[in-house]
Amino acid sequence: MIIKARSLGPEPTVIEDVIPAEKWDLDSSDVKVIGFIKVVVSAAVYGTEIVCDTTVRTLRKVTCARCLDEVEQEDECAFTLSYCTKDHGDTIDIENDIREEVVLNWPVIPLCDADCKGLDPKTGEKLK
Ligand SMILES: [Zn+2]
Repeated sequence: MIIKARSLGPEPTVIEDVIPAEKWDLDSSDVKVIGFIKVVVSAAVYGTEIVCDTTVRTLRKVTCARCLDEVEQEDECAFTLSYCTKDHGDTIDIENDIREEVVLNWPVIPLCDADCKGLDPKTGEKLK
């Protein structure tokens, strides 16, 4: 995802991209991206800084660490990246920075629900 730094101004420019899941290789044994990764960047220049308000949406299939249920979850991850205009030329490739933020927010212990009580150790049934 390339930002054209020279064409940006104080009014935000919205840039959208759809990244194939396999390109970012985010999958782990219990979290898999299904479909696409949707990225929306609102980029603007403030003084000597390029500010990129970024939202990344993914649809993923998660195996719950407590009850082992497989569920589909839509995730939205929002963050701001900023770059100094002096350190960059006409274009900035921000895709790796976006991917890094998404990786940092990727669930380490995925759950079907924050309140999941897991399995009954005696019966193996899901606790309610
Ligand atoms: Zn669960």
